[in-house]
Amino acid sequence: MIIVWLEEVGSKDIAVVGGKGASLGEMMKEELPVPGGFAVTAQAFRHFIDDTKIADKIFESLKVDVNNSEELKKAEKTAKNLIIETKMPQKIEKEILAAYDELCKREGGEVFAAVRSSATAEDLPDASFAGQQDSFLNVKGGEAIVNAVKRCWASLYGARAIFYRVKQGFKHEQVNISVIVQTMVDADRAGIMFTSHPMSGEPLTVIEANWGLGETVVAGSVSPDRYVVDRRTKRIVQHDIGSKEIMHIRDTKTGKTIKTQVPADMAGKAVLRDDEVMKLNELGELVETHYDYPQDVEWAIKDDKIYMLQSRPVTTIQKKEEEPEKVIEEVLLEGLGASPGIASGKVKVVMKLDELDKVNEGDILVTSMTTPDMVPAMERAAGIITDEGGLTCHAAIVSRELGTPAVVGTKESTNVLKDGMVITIDGDKGHVYEGRFDRTVQDEQAATTPMVTTKQVTVTEVKVNISISEAAQRASATGADGVGLLRIEHMILGLNKHPQLYIKEGKSEEYVAQLVKGIQTVADAFYPKPVWVRTLDAPTDEFRSMQGGEDEPKEHNPMLGWRGIRRDLGDVEHFKLELRTFRKLYELGYSNVGIMLPLVQHPMELRRAKEIMIEVGLNLDKIELGIMVETPASALIIDQFIEEGLDFVSFGTNDLTQYTLAVDRNNENVAYLYDEQHPAVLKLIEHVILECNRAGVKSSICGQAGSSPEMARKLVELGITSISANIDAVESVREMVARTEKRILLEAARKSL
Ligand code: PEP
Ligand code: MG
Repeated sequence: MIIVWLEEVGSKDIAVVGGKGASLGEMMKEELPVPGGFAVTAQAFRHFIDDTKIADKIFESLKVDVNNSEELKKAEKTAKNLIIETKMPQKIEKEILAAYDELCKREGGEVFAAVRSSATAEDLPDASFAGQQDSFLNVKGGEAIVNAVKRCWASLYGARAIFYRVKQGFKHEQVNISVIVQTMVDADRAGIMFTSHPMSGEPLTVIEANWGLGETVVAGSVSPDRYVVDRRTKRIVQHDIGSKEIMHIRDTKTGKTIKTQVPADMAGKAVLRDDEVMKLNELGELVETHYDYPQDVEWAIKDDKIYMLQSRPVTTIQKKEEEPEKVIEEVLLEGLGASPGIASGKVKVVMKLDELDKVNEGDILVTSMTTPDMVPAMERAAGIITDEGGLTCHAAIVSRELGTPAVVGTKESTNVLKDGMVITIDGDKGHVYEGRFDRTVQDEQAATTPMVTTKQVTVTEVKVNISISEAAQRASATGADGVGLLRIEHMILGLNKHPQLYIKEGKSEEYVAQLVKGIQTVADAFYPKPVWVRTLDAPTDEFRSMQGGEDEPKEHNPMLGWRGIRRDLGDVEHFKLELRTFRKLYELGYSNVGIMLPLVQHPMELRRAKEIMIEVGLNLDKIELGIMVETPASALIIDQFIEEGLDFVSFGTNDLTQYTLAVDRNNENVAYLYDEQHPAVLKLIEHVILECNRAGVKSSICGQAGSSPEMARKLVELGITSISANIDAVESVREMVARTEKRILLEAARKSL
């Protein structure tokens, strides 16, 4: 059987039409509004590769070491090319064309179709890991349909899919793929709907919506509207208008899907009327009742008619009874939970940099402390454990940005853990367990840290911190109002060649170009939202291990040593290279880039830095310039800094806390004394905010404390103008900011009654 119509299939047919096809058939049975269409069966795919005799060649090409990324890429290319370049047998092609003709007849004219891959049962469990196979929208005409079907087939052999299938123990020979061809809904509005709350499972329908096709919401590339309906009371309990920057629509001239700016008057308008929200809620309840489980539904509206495009079970609900301690064996180690999530994998202990290659995709990287050279291996790792460090060490910052669970400061992980051991780490609790924690629900949750697509509008801006440019897209998908801190030392240390060596070798231009590239990636992802880039701030001990770093001074206490603005003012030659980087970015049009100076303690430092900026040709009237408040000195005489002239200040609470309390932030022996909300720290912060508000200077926070909702509440109450949080904390901080602002308004209103 080559073709089967969607109305003829149901959940028993997954092996024939895949998960997507089966679920569409089920929804049709419930008479839900599903666009008509047919499935090219998984068996058709099998016929294709068998009849054309490419099956053996494909499977032979997939016999590679999947841990070797070169071999993996080659396998993907060979397998995909075999499918794309082999002519489809006439019998299959004829049936697809006939079915498309029939679909056109049913719709009363040649239709645009959505052609989507539908993973079959064998492949279903790992489909979410494999990144889903391809889909093609707005496909019209028989030849184009046949082509799109072949491309969907080819996507069965994407590199990630091959990798995960091998890791999960699936045989490529047993995995087939079905393709769904459906009348395309040229949506005016579309989005997703969770029929119950996606984390808690409560009976709250969560709907996210944007103009145009739903792809922008599914991919999390916009801040959509968000509507929440309490199914118990049948009332809309949340109604937030997102900023909805872009939309995907069908180009009227070419018929192709295009990405375009949402016109300003539409961006601020609600996508859905209340009656439409309630209608979607009703349809959602029907789907959930049918499956007897919360569903994640894609929907679309064309000319006021609602369509259901897809439904799959929600995989992110936290099940209390599935706590890891009950499943796995023994707590091996404890440390600080530095990046949330749970991950299981094989231990790879890295003591020297030349051992990094042994860390494969999905392993747990164990080391005394990570360094910027380790970022590629950290990207491959499923989890990270270190002996040293606190919540603001390199490992903690980078793993949070990568969305990789991490436990730091375990003291003895490199002793206790041995290569090849299978362990599980809990990045919330800071625990390391023996054994694998293999509950699918939690595994998927850890592997696919759900990207936040909600956007509450707050007066206090909620921004995001970034340290590695690889995190720019993840950070921007949070819908943050800008970047409150871009650390450039991770980029510089990652070059692994000391800046002075670049200068000595006459390669300053190359150095500047590298910095421009790194910053530009972030400035692009956020443009035109502001990106505050901080000038170099790394302690001397981190520079010493770089090629050419032998001359770095040896300091007793690098944290109190030659770092931040004092280093730049002592090594003006290098400071000027940083400033030339900024000049180049402004020439390229990145007017959204601001400059932030770290670790200032006297207004003279600000004055001197400005003089050098002017020497390099920066126009200070056009640049947002600010300082970090990280020393009690700068907080206590903030009025004198304001007098000197600046646009903003940002609390670096990681340092402000260590300098106020005399507690080394990286010393686990005194970690118990480290308290960012110590009354003395809060008193300094309050004083600075007050002075800034008096002078009309913006105030912000970019230290780790800004990621705590409790701290966010206090800062909003104190009147801070923005809060910059880690990627994973943007959403919870935004919620707290919104709630606090509303409460303040309410209290004021009550008082005035
Ligand atoms: C801080 O000190 O709070 C800060 C954000 O800077 P860093 O952590 O890079 O020292
Ligand atoms: Mg600091």
